[in-house]
Amino acid sequence: MPCGNRRASACPSCSRTYARDTFELLRAGAVGGKTVPASVADNPMLFVTLTAPSFGHVHRTAKPGQPVTRCRPRDRAQVCQHGRPVGCMATHEQGDSVAGQPICHECYDYEGHVVWQWWAPELWRRFGIRLTRLIARHLGVPATKPRPCKRYPYPRLWLGDLASIQYAKVGEYQTRGLIHFHGLVRLDGPKTPDGFAAAPDALPATVLASLIEDAAADVHYTAPPALTGSPERVLRFGKQLDVKVVRAAHRPDDDTSPLASEHVERVAGYLAKYATKAVSDTTGEGRTNAHYVRIRETCRRLAADADRRAAAHREAGDHAYEDPYALIGKWAHMLGFRGHFSTKSRRYSVTLGRLRRARRRWQAITAEAARTGQPVDTADLEQRLMADDEEETTLVIGSWSYVGTGWDSTGDAALADAAAARAREYDQWRAKRKHNQNY
Ligand SMILES: [Zn+2]
Ligand SMILES: [Zn+2]
Ligand SMILES: [Zn+2]
Repeated sequence: MPCGNRRASACPSCSRTYARDTFELLRAGAVGGKTVPASVADNPMLFVTLTAPSFGHVHRTAKPGQPVTRCRPRDRAQVCQHGRPVGCMATHEQGDSVAGQPICHECYDYEGHVVWQWWAPELWRRFGIRLTRLIARHLGVPATKPRPCKRYPYPRLWLGDLASIQYAKVGEYQTRGLIHFHGLVRLDGPKTPDGFAAAPDALPATVLASLIEDAAADVHYTAPPALTGSPERVLRFGKQLDVKVVRAAHRPDDDTSPLASEHVERVAGYLAKYATKAVSDTTGEGRTNAHYVRIRETCRRLAADADRRAAAHREAGDHAYEDPYALIGKWAHMLGFRGHFSTKSRRYSVTLGRLRRARRRWQAITAEAARTGQPVDTADLEQRLMADDEEETTLVIGSWSYVGTGWDSTGDAALADAAAARAREYDQWRAKRKHNQNY
């Protein structure tokens, strides 16, 4: 069995498979295929990047394709309260290890950094809710299905009758150790028996883009204090927000469509790469990065404080108390990010599980073909591979467990050594004989 590790630093082979599956999932959601109806390609699609706010100035390297500029030009005489210059006149090439490191690590707000990262999944969740509400308001309908009441006894139109938002998102660590969210957002019409209806004309891609910007700017979460005595923090996404229209719409009469689908594929490729790169930089080579070490230490400090609070509550007889930061130490290796690196809404695309099942079925089919010598029957192969049935449940009889390494007794070991030596001698004798025969 493959290990299934998605991190490139842990298993190059499995991480390639994972990246490929993620790519197929993203692509199918954009242009159809793999059981996703091709009609999704008629709907507008946007590429959204939500960033983290700043927790202190960090060293910057040149962006690819841009001229190398000074890192952070400031008056050289200006120093922070720790006596360090507030600017950096150096120019850092790409790949410089100083990139993402704070200019003054004592000025850098590590607690804020970790608290934000810890609640980042909650910010994303709230962003989705906020966006749905803004879309409903724009279309002039309620966001949730209204119950018939005295005033309106009949079923009324609501958002689900007009549109839905489907997305796939991927988290990517920036060099400063904060997560970014990149998402492909698709606007669908209401669900129909064989796919999705066209997106409503009342909500063109450009309007959707501005609603996404509004939602990202509005959304906030008040995080409970992380260290006993520290204040509550109002968390938001960073001001750097990027919303691009990948595809306004892709109608048969739209001659920009081939370009749009190529563009979509490129974006899907980036996202798949981010999904595997995600942690390798922070746990692989990033293990000794001074900034990441401090972030991990902060996670553990917060966890220790949470433990103390929980103990105090238990002493006071409150056994139901659960500290919101109790588990942050377990996520220190992920720099405090506990979310999933790639997630999707239910109807965006096919699932990774289904792609994996298709691959297993393909292995079984080719193994069977090799055994019987019969060519693989390619008729409706894709349907058979992607079928959503559970006919091939594997019956597990017994299980494997680790007993030990080596031999039970020294006698067994001696026998094995002797057998190996004889096998070697036999091989050498045979090789020599073959050599003599040839010459
Ligand atoms: Zn593996
Ligand atoms: Zn610098
Ligand atoms: Zn300082």
